[in-house]
Amino acid sequence: MNLILLGPPGAGKGTQAARMIEKYKIPQISTGDIFRKNIKEGTELGKKAQEYMNKGELVPDDLVIEIATTRLLEDDCKNGFLLDGFPRTVYQAEKLDEFLAKHGKKIDKVLDIAVEKEELMTRLIGRRVCRSCGATYHIVNMPPKKEGVCDSCGGELYQRADDNKETVENRIDVYNSQTKPLVDYYEKAGNIAHIDGAIGLENVFAHIVSVLGA
Ligand code: AMP
Repeated sequence: MNLILLGPPGAGKGTQAARMIEKYKIPQISTGDIFRKNIKEGTELGKKAQEYMNKGELVPDDLVIEIATTRLLEDDCKNGFLLDGFPRTVYQAEKLDEFLAKHGKKIDKVLDIAVEKEELMTRLIGRRVCRSCGATYHIVNMPPKKEGVCDSCGGELYQRADDNKETVENRIDVYNSQTKPLVDYYEKAGNIAHIDGAIGLENVFAHIVSVLGA
């Protein structure tokens, strides 16, 4: 199964991806995670990406496409993959389709998760992430048992540098202007499913499973 999770920042793509990879036994490919790992390790790629990420802007297409397609060539993607946060522009989607066609593959399903702007703002500004295992929490809606500590692995929780009010607003605007046109792109391809992301994470997951099959 070759899948794409589409939706604005804060729609719950990462949360659903964590469940989907367990159920469907395919790897999650998050370009945002790849960039954050590079920033942490102080690589050249990380330095380049950070400039854009801190402002809530998109990293240039060619750089992202290179990173994503290199990752897709790895062995664990042979039987399927789940793209989370890629593609984010029509150009990226076109290049992805070209790349997949060259390798005799295609996207099977695009899951488009929709959530209202106000709710996205609340979710992102209160989001905390575990430094060790990547689990996500919310200071009000899903607080950890002990403040600042991950329930599952005991790791330290932190707030992403781009989860502040100004940057979040910009990321949502960028989504609407540059990424939303992908809905039309995949509508034309006939492989998109629309998911209401505001019905609770269990119900969202159930809807995804009903679309993909058990
Ligand atoms: P995410 O973790 O998916 O919210 O991504 C965090 C940030 O990484 C985004 O706000 C962008 O600056 C950058 N980024 C991640 N994926 C892409 C992409 N496909 N195209 C451009 N920039 C990206």
